[in-house]
Amino acid sequence: MSRVCLEAARFIEVLDACDALVAGGGVSGCAAACAAARAGARTFLLERNGCLGGVATASLMANVGNLLLAASGEIVTRGFALEVLDRAAAAGAASPHWKDRGVPGCTLDSERFKVVLIDMLQEAGVTILTHALAARPILEDGAVAGVFLEGKSGRQALRARAVVDATGEADLAWQAGAQTRRSRGTASTLFALEGVDVEAFIAFLKSRPEEFPAMHDFVRDIEVFERNWRERGIFFFPHVSGARGDWPALNRLLAESGFAPEKECPEYRETRMGMYAIKGGSVAINSNVYVVGDLDVRLLSRLELHAQRMCYRAADLLRRHMPGFERSRVAHIGVDLGVRVSRSIVGRETLGVGAVRGGAPSRCDSAIALSPVRVEAPGRKAFVEDFTFDIPFGVLVPQGCEGLLVASAKSISTQPAGLIRGMSGCMACGQAAGVGAALAAQKGIPPSAVPVRDIQRALLKQGVWLGDTARLRELGLG
Ligand SMILES: Cc1cc2nc3c(=O)[nH]c(=O)nc-3n(C[C@H](O)[C@H](O)[C@H](O)COP(=O)(O)OP(=O)(O)OC[C@H]3O[C@@H](n4cnc5c(N)ncnc54)[C@H](O)[C@@H]3O)c2cc1C
Repeated sequence: MSRVCLEAARFIEVLDACDALVAGGGVSGCAAACAAARAGARTFLLERNGCLGGVATASLMANVGNLLLAASGEIVTRGFALEVLDRAAAAGAASPHWKDRGVPGCTLDSERFKVVLIDMLQEAGVTILTHALAARPILEDGAVAGVFLEGKSGRQALRARAVVDATGEADLAWQAGAQTRRSRGTASTLFALEGVDVEAFIAFLKSRPEEFPAMHDFVRDIEVFERNWRERGIFFFPHVSGARGDWPALNRLLAESGFAPEKECPEYRETRMGMYAIKGGSVAINSNVYVVGDLDVRLLSRLELHAQRMCYRAADLLRRHMPGFERSRVAHIGVDLGVRVSRSIVGRETLGVGAVRGGAPSRCDSAIALSPVRVEAPGRKAFVEDFTFDIPFGVLVPQGCEGLLVASAKSISTQPAGLIRGMSGCMACGQAAGVGAALAAQKGIPPSAVPVRDIQRALLKQGVWLGDTARLRELGLG
């Protein structure tokens, strides 16, 4: 068999032409599309699934890590991220009581959250195409000028003045020739259980308070954990790891049942037990963890299919051995294997670990958002959480390809990759990419050439926080 075959050149029908085209409808892409449309761009969003939200919905990752509040309690990551959580709370898709440093994450009803996103994008005037795969970038004069898409109408072209890659794995940037890095990351398929008796589970935890995984995943102790549930309607149980032995109950359960999937699947790394829910909702479980060294379609398919079977096995384990789970049953399995980090771009600027973990505020001239830091210091009684850092615009600008910005914080330019991959970081980057694309379209210049001050001004108009008055003056924005 020959190792290559020729794809015949052919003319492709042009479906439409727009100002800003966003490929990928996860939280990053939704933020980008909404921001671009609000900045005046005629905007299309292409999503290969039938719903918006990506990892947050299709993969059932129902927890927006609470990285919006600074140590002072002030909300510093604002704009789309804050607005969508407020809208989610108003729609019953999230608790309104997440704005507290004691809350590790804003847990979601993933199904309702899909509709919150649809509402926001449609109100902004975004044209959403579902089951529309952005198959390849259209390259003209060495720059991205739209995408070829694949859907039920076959292959079509959508022209755009500026494109935002929100595919999560920088697929379009990579295809367009941008410099990229590959990182060995992990992936999980989540599932949701209905019929969990949360009260009985909490009673079990309280019967062994010394075993509770305190100071873990931003959960200080069992009292804070219980208060979040009772007073705020937020159920968040930390991602305890069987391999690390964070929670003796999990290790007993694994040992007694002989649960060892790594023996049958070499990429299966470990069993964890993170759990999230809102009052009255199903409980999302994050349990299987695979190592993903490559984006090879055969590897991803094998792991995804293995993981779906694993969800039932993990659910069985909980049902048989964990108080509160006796009557639970699997209600949903994530339709996508959730890949934490894999391919990312080498950008005009790179956010390094020093800026994020330096222990002191880290500022940059090209800031497009502010993010707080919470670092867990094992053995200490408090989190190290006293500073914030700026996310620079240049981390969204790929090297080696024009006409395109990358929105997804898991594939922007950071060292190590995925440094700010949480959903709040994704939405902050997405909003900036959307604004950048809209301004590029209006000015008729590539997104990389849009003056950063113009992007900052437009972001401020959209409710993004870049600092106090003194800081804005420093940036020439006061
Ligand atoms: C297992 C797991 C646990 C996590 N835990 C947390 C947590 O507790 N808290 C937190 O804040 N963050 C967490 N994260 C990180 C966070 O959820 C993700 O980084 C974030 O949701 C990514 O959003 P995104 O929009 O950038 O990418 P995605 O959610 O991956 O969205 C990409 C979208 O693009 C679509 N797409 C891809 N390719 C194409 C194409 N060619 N054409 C059209 N559409 C395409 C996909 O279908 C998808 O909808 C976790 C991530 C994972 C995987």
